[in-house]
Amino acid sequence: MRIDVVSMFPELFTGPLHTSLLGKAIAARRLEVNLVDLRTHGLGPHRSVDDATYGGGAGMVMRPEPIFAAVEAVAEEGSHIVLLSPRGTRLNQSVVQRLAAHEHLILVCGRYEGVDERVAEHLTDDEISIGDYVLAGGELAALVVIEAVSRLLPGVLGNETSLADESHTGGLLEYPQFTRPASYRGWKVPGVLLSGDHGAVERWRRDQAERITRERRPDLLDP
Ligand code: SAM
Repeated sequence: MRIDVVSMFPELFTGPLHTSLLGKAIAARRLEVNLVDLRTHGLGPHRSVDDATYGGGAGMVMRPEPIFAAVEAVAEEGSHIVLLSPRGTRLNQSVVQRLAAHEHLILVCGRYEGVDERVAEHLTDDEISIGDYVLAGGELAALVVIEAVSRLLPGVLGNETSLADESHTGGLLEYPQFTRPASYRGWKVPGVLLSGDHGAVERWRRDQAERITRERRPDLLDP
């Protein structure tokens, strides 16, 4: 998969894209991420990308021309263009799965008071929010999308069976996990996990996943 990110602050991506799972996915060419510096498409000698809001009010709005130019410079037939926005569809695992099915994503990061509405109306295919709160910009939201999507790409996770039991994949939150030591400060690992009885382990995990989901997220059981 290829992801182009249009941002005023491409330097925000440097650490995360070179670290851990994302760094390995990019090094192994399972994922290609191209950062498009919006300022290179800015207007006039100052490479301006924003202006005052029509109708009055506090703050600046991002102008449409630099965003259209930046996106059109990388868009191809079949590109899926996403605007990160607190007004968008709230990201969840099924939205992540839908995004992961595209060969090419273009993520547009807003700043200031957001972007001129004509970007959402006439350029982007999707508006995605990572939650009901407001960030200063779309860059961290884009990184959330990139990491969640890349975990689903073939060959990115070392053990892809771990995807099957995960929280938000099969409709339940995940069961509790333990590792060594079997006893730590007197807190013991549940005996069934040490029993070697695979059937009993499976039943225990299922019961625990249902219990935790019922306690913490009953909305997932009865949407
Ligand atoms: N004035 C906008 C509003 O009330 O909806 C908020 C603009 S916010 C300060 C600036 C940019 O951050 C947005 O254009 C968007 O790209 C990004 N952003 C902020 N919160 C976000 C969220 N929850 N999900 C995705 N992107 C977000």
